[in-house]
Amino acid sequence: MKLLLIEDDFEIAITLKEELEKNYIVKISATGEDGEYQAEINDYDLILLDLGLPDKDGLEVCRNIRKSGVRAPILVLTGQADLKMKVSLLDAGADDYLTKPFKLEELMARVRALLRRPKETLLSNTLSTSDLTLDLDKKTAKRETQLIALRKKEFYLLEYLVRNAGNVVSRGMILDNVWDNDCDSLTNIVDVHINYLRDRIDKPYDKKLIKTVHGLGYKIEA
Ligand code: CA
Repeated sequence: MKLLLIEDDFEIAITLKEELEKNYIVKISATGEDGEYQAEINDYDLILLDLGLPDKDGLEVCRNIRKSGVRAPILVLTGQADLKMKVSLLDAGADDYLTKPFKLEELMARVRALLRRPKETLLSNTLSTSDLTLDLDKKTAKRETQLIALRKKEFYLLEYLVRNAGNVVSRGMILDNVWDNDCDSLTNIVDVHINYLRDRIDKPYDKKLIKTVHGLGYKIEA
């Protein structure tokens, strides 16, 4: 199993790494910026996150890691843990925390407990707006409880609209983000796919989700 340790204090980082490496592969990150990057590009089983980082607030790092879709459990190492802090930590997407100073045995026990948790109980990999929910793993959509199968391109297009819910996205933005490149002359493929998508997710329902914003593009209400 691979762990990411985001900790700027060199001595603490080395001590923890030595202990954790008896059982796991451990990568150290010394800044929030690098930690977010490492968490996003690698597939870790657990992330240990120090809240007091030199470049960024640890809570913000936690939030950004979750925003990038990372589902690995996050164990926060913090100097303070009053009620307000605990609530903020959970809201930011952390799974557990340890107050410094802590005993290595306790840290190891928390790590084992988090790694034992079945993945489904952790943050689910879905996006939603209104009565629409997207399952990012299965690439399916639901309106309320009704499952809607989508072609891959339709799914990515819908995912892009939902990630930008409340904002207008232009045809150009859609092309850049949903199609690979070089489709400038083909902006009507966006319209064509929006129509496919409407047939599946809007036509059978009273409430229409995809709005055309004249002259600008499309939007899904937040
Ligand atoms: Ca620190």
